[in-house]
Amino acid sequence: MFLKRIDVAGFKSFAERIQVEFVQGVTAVVGPNGSGKSNISDAVRWVLGEQSAKSLRGSKMEDIIFAGSDNRKPLNVAEVTLTLDNEDQHLPLDYNEISITRRVYRSGDSEYLINKQQCRLKDIVELFMDSGLGKEAFSIIGQGRVEEILSSKSDERRKIFEEAAGVLKYKTRKQKAEVK
Ligand code: ATP
Ligand code: MG
Repeated sequence: MFLKRIDVAGFKSFAERIQVEFVQGVTAVVGPNGSGKSNISDAVRWVLGEQSAKSLRGSKMEDIIFAGSDNRKPLNVAEVTLTLDNEDQHLPLDYNEISITRRVYRSGDSEYLINKQQCRLKDIVELFMDSGLGKEAFSIIGQGRVEEILSSKSDERRKIFEEAAGVLKYKTRKQKAEVK
């Protein structure tokens, strides 16, 4: 499984619809300060289910919608789609290519889609849980996170290993079942 493409429209600094293609192997995103490099990784985390505006470097979810510039009006919707190559069937869905879309409107309404079909956020979170690609997974390591991993408490560190080993999904379900 690998990330093939990301389509971004109205998300943070990306007023125009942009598409970034990735190939297997290493891709480096380079650009001047403030040009939107971190906004791309924020977009990936957002689609994977990030719900904390603060961790997306804003104060409320609306802050991720393009806020306007000197010559452009603000937009009312932000949309990001990740397209993943799933030929190895790493994700438990019988498709060779999977697209995941998240949309948010200024009104606060949200939409989530898997292969263009409406779904719940929970479906997306579950799809990625244990894949190594969840929002809390080891696949996205933000600035400062390396230090955090090295110095975090043992049970925090354990969570990272559990996600990597593929047992977090079962633990989460067990906990939910016990609460009921
Ligand atoms: P650095 O090299 O400093 O890390 P970067 O390339 O990672 O920079 P980003 O943090 O991705 O840059 O982009 C920051 C830019 O995104 C800022 O100019 C900020 O004004 C813009 N931005 C963030 N949110 C919005 C929004 N909702 N609407 C318009 N622009 C936004
Ligand atoms: Mg940055």
